[in-house]
Amino acid sequence: MTCNPNWPEIKEHLTPGEQAPHRPDIVALVFRAKLITLKKLIVEDSVLGEIAAYTYVVEFQKRGLPHAHLLLIMRPSYKIKEPNVFDKFISAEIPDESNPHLRKIILSHMMHSPCGTANPECPCMKHKSSPGACKYGYPKAFQEETSTHENGFPLYRRRDDGQNPIIRKFAMDNRWVIPYNPYLSALFDCHLNVKVFSTIQVVKYIYKYVYKGHDKISFAVSAQKDVKPVDEIEQFQNGRWVSPSEVAWRIFSFDLFEMYSPVLPIQVHLPNAQTVQFKPHEQLAGIVASDTRSRTSLTEFFKMNATQDGASQFLYSEFPEHYVWNPSAKAWTKRVHIKLLLAV
Ligand SMILES: [Zn+2]
Repeated sequence: MTCNPNWPEIKEHLTPGEQAPHRPDIVALVFRAKLITLKKLIVEDSVLGEIAAYTYVVEFQKRGLPHAHLLLIMRPSYKIKEPNVFDKFISAEIPDESNPHLRKIILSHMMHSPCGTANPECPCMKHKSSPGACKYGYPKAFQEETSTHENGFPLYRRRDDGQNPIIRKFAMDNRWVIPYNPYLSALFDCHLNVKVFSTIQVVKYIYKYVYKGHDKISFAVSAQKDVKPVDEIEQFQNGRWVSPSEVAWRIFSFDLFEMYSPVLPIQVHLPNAQTVQFKPHEQLAGIVASDTRSRTSLTEFFKMNATQDGASQFLYSEFPEHYVWNPSAKAWTKRVHIKLLLAV
């Protein structure tokens, strides 16, 4: 989901002559409110089906607008696999005139900018892996029915229905529509792209979008050109790019990411083959004699099984749901008030 600078909630707070990028504080507040609403609709109201787990990250475009990548993992019976189920949740067609509200939103936010011969300067055309072709594969082919491509990606229904609206001076049809969810698009009036991935593709997606890290910039200001000798160390220095709306987001202490359910890494090792960490100044004899140093979540899991009533009914991977690992004490304690903890 990308922030729409023309949302009325932003515009009504601008003074005459002001534009959204001038008020990164208002942009951050409104975008966060919309993101919370979107999350509630998806996670609590299950508008796309029941969710088993999710994560999202918030990012900022160079000139300021925030956007968010949400990754949803559906419960098994809600996984979208069949072509007819795709059509229920995702459309890649221009809504007809009978739905003017949605039509306007899709035409303003969900048409891929004309590229190819119509616009060879489009950034999607400048890509190493496919020179001279759109990086995203637009225009897509017309499709009578949704089907599944052999690589696992769905091929969405894009019927040749004769619609030819002019967008950015170019006659566009269903081959140019970025897939969207009609209900969420009508509600949020912004760029809101919905994609379905197979499990393998999810891993790729996570690294491409969700965990890719900060944007960086390297620059230097010099008074006279070509006079100073080249300072490679100075050139090599990296700066970090923080846009005004990211600054506002951080001042408000809004979350930049969230993950549900929380993940606790638990150790797995062979008997007496666990890693024991120590500092250079420590005496080896003391480390060996210590009762706690060799404890791990796995050794203590076995200890709990041997000594605590009820502990043995859970598998190791289920254990953190019922017991809390305390890393400094190196011990499991029974989880209490589990509902309250989840609510926090
Ligand atoms: Zn393109």
